[in-house]
Amino acid sequence: MDRAGLDPAATLLVIGVHQEELSFGEGVATALLDPGDLPDVAVLRVPEGISGRHPRPDQRFRYQVQHEALYRQIRRAAGRRHLLIDLHRGTDDGGPCADIICGDGHLLAALGRRRRDDSRVRLVGLGDAAGGRRSGVLAAHTVIPRDVWDSPDFLFVGLEVYIPSGNGGSANDWAFAADLIKDIIAAAQAGTPEHKSPTNDEGTPWPGPARTRSTARP
Ligand SMILES: [Zn+2]
Repeated sequence: MDRAGLDPAATLLVIGVHQEELSFGEGVATALLDPGDLPDVAVLRVPEGISGRHPRPDQRFRYQVQHEALYRQIRRAAGRRHLLIDLHRGTDDGGPCADIICGDGHLLAALGRRRRDDSRVRLVGLGDAAGGRRSGVLAAHTVIPRDVWDSPDFLFVGLEVYIPSGNGGSANDWAFAADLIKDIIAAAQAGTPEHKSPTNDEGTPWPGPARTRSTARP
């Protein structure tokens, strides 16, 4: 962890939870902050992230423990900020495209209105924000501890951006991700958190190792 916890910024952008994705996160952070018009965003660079490679079966328990420990550190770093955005990078030859993962149904609905006609963006709900009752919101469960993604102290949003190369990405990829982050911040500032309900752990786990997304989307 760096000293970002001392920054009073209202949004914390976390990059490098998976170590292979840190260079993409650096590009996005530069695209997001270079104009200098987002003073309320701080960036937390995870210096020694978890490997994004698939763990062997005998490594899975340790992998889970590493995720939990890292996210508890991130929760402490969030301090009194109201929004925590956890940026990841996946691979899609048709990208850039993205999944926005959140346990707050109001935020997902607000983002859905902003990105109604954008087929590049999928909304993924954790817990009661998932699936079924809200059209257009997919379901997922997560290795992230519930007291992080369902925290009473801040709003957690996972952002997985899928890019063609699977490496650090291009200026176009970074700009796409930066625009999404601005939308998330705007939606979070406009909405009020909804009452939280018991979890519904169905669908695919997130964040998964070495994720690849098909370009074929509904
Ligand atoms: Zn990742």
